[in-house]
Amino acid sequence: MSSTLIPPSCGRAIAVRAGGLVEVVDVEGSQVGDLWAIDVADPRRWLSTSHTRDTLEQLFPRVGQSFVDQRYQPILELVADTSPGLHDMLFPACNPALYAREGSPQHPNCADNFVAAAGQAGVTLPAVPDPVNLFQNSAPDADGRIAVHAAITRPGDRVRLRALRDITLVLTACAVDFWPTNGERCTSLRLDQLDGDGN
Ligand SMILES: [Zn+2]
Repeated sequence: MSSTLIPPSCGRAIAVRAGGLVEVVDVEGSQVGDLWAIDVADPRRWLSTSHTRDTLEQLFPRVGQSFVDQRYQPILELVADTSPGLHDMLFPACNPALYAREGSPQHPNCADNFVAAAGQAGVTLPAVPDPVNLFQNSAPDADGRIAVHAAITRPGDRVRLRALRDITLVLTACAVDFWPTNGERCTSLRLDQLDGDGN
């Protein structure tokens, strides 16, 4: 197994071969992670949250279901989830305009961290795709409101994912440092690439 630590408010990219298993670990708990998957063979195809909602007719895949790209082709499978199961696929990555609105235009943000991490992996996209916001506690109310509450993941909670083709996987430890998204403070995440037998 190889591990990649994502420090607080930072992002990293890793290469995952088709069939490869990866776990996203919330090291200290209550930390949102923004996740992207881009096709190595054709970087114009990436995990599309809207196409995934469309094809599943759900707000988020269940364990055993897959995220798809813009052509409805599966790209990443949700294999297991030890977290309370709260995730989001409706919000964009936090971004410079969001923090400028809050009076902090120079604030670290997941959109810039995605661009930097993907660029280091040799991937440049025409826009920042909407991410999968793992562990984000913003399930819709009955009236359709999607207020963000503090993430309720516990230390060590994780989701296991399987790459369904060769992908560049990008993960950012969300940089929102005001209550409640990431709890009391921004913390780190970890990417564990498992060996072939799942260990
Ligand atoms: Zn963020």
